[in-house]
Amino acid sequence: MQPSQFDLSGKAAIVTGGNGGIGLGMARGLAEAGADIAIVGRNEAKSNAAVADLKQFGVRAIAVTADVTDEAAVIAMAERVRREFGRIDILVNNAGINIRKAPHALSLDEWDNVIKTNLTSAFLCSRAVYPAMKDAGGGKIINIGSMLSIFGASFAPAYAASKGGIVQFTRSCAVAWAADNIQVNAVLPGWIDTDLTRRAREQIAGLHDKVLARTPAARWGASTDFAGIAVFLSSPASDFLTGTAIPVDGGFSVMG
Ligand code: NDP
Repeated sequence: MQPSQFDLSGKAAIVTGGNGGIGLGMARGLAEAGADIAIVGRNEAKSNAAVADLKQFGVRAIAVTADVTDEAAVIAMAERVRREFGRIDILVNNAGINIRKAPHALSLDEWDNVIKTNLTSAFLCSRAVYPAMKDAGGGKIINIGSMLSIFGASFAPAYAASKGGIVQFTRSCAVAWAADNIQVNAVLPGWIDTDLTRRAREQIAGLHDKVLARTPAARWGASTDFAGIAVFLSSPASDFLTGTAIPVDGGFSVMG
C-alpha cells in the first residue's frame, strides 16, 4: 500500500510557541500524523505539559526552553533538535506577542520587542534550520501571520508591521530555497480563542460580539482548527505549494 500523502512518520518538527494556543494545536496535528516534535518556548512548565500531551500520540517530544529573539539560543535550539532527533524536516514559526497601543503611545522598546518576537525570530529560526533541511534534501517552513498581515488596526502598529513582514519574508525564503526543495508558506489566522485573545477580550469591550458578527463562520476559531493546515503544509501533499499566505479565518478576510 502507498503511504498516505499526509503521513509524517519519521519526520522531525520544531514548533516555536508550541506550548499553548495555535502552536499546540498545530503540534498536536503534526504528532497525530507521526512527526516527532520539539516545543520551543520560555515557560518550561507549560512546555513540559505540552510535551506530556504530545507523547500520547506515540511520538518523541521534547521541550526546548529558549527565547526565540536570542540568536545564540536559537542556534543552540536547532543544534539540540538535530542532535536528539537526527534531522529537522519541519519548522513552524508561531511564537508571537502583541502590545496593544496606538502608534503615538508605543515606545521604541515596545516596537522592538514585538518586531523581534514576531518577525526577527522567524528569520533566526529559519536560518538556523536551513542547513539541516538542505542536507536532508528538503523541508517545510510554516510562518504564522495574522489578519493584520492584510488589514490595519489602530491598536497594533508594530504587530501589523511584523505580520505584514512575515508574508514578505515567507515569499523571499520560498524563492531562495525552492531549489533546495524547501517549501515556505504562511498561515493567517482569523480570531482564535487563545490566551493572547483572552487578554484582548478583557481589554476591548464588545470584542467578543464584534468578532462573531464580522466572521462568516459566526464563531471564534479554536486551536484544533490549525491541525489540518499544519499537516497539509508539512506533508508531501503540498510539495508544489510555496510562498503562499493562507487565511484560516472562517471567512473573515473575504467578508465584504
Ligand atoms: P499564545 O499567547 O497562546 O501563544 C504564544 C506563544 O508564543 C506561547 O507559546 C509563548 O510561549 C510563545 N512565545 C512568545 N514570546 C516568545 C519568545 N520570546 N520566545 C519563545 N517563545 C515565545 O498566542 P496564540 O496561540 O494566539 O498565538 C500564536 C501565534 O498566532 C502568534 O504568532 C500570534 O500572533 C498568531 N495569531 C493569533 C491569533 C489569535 O486570534 N489568537 C490571530 C492571528 C495570529 P512562552 O510564553 O513559553 O515563551
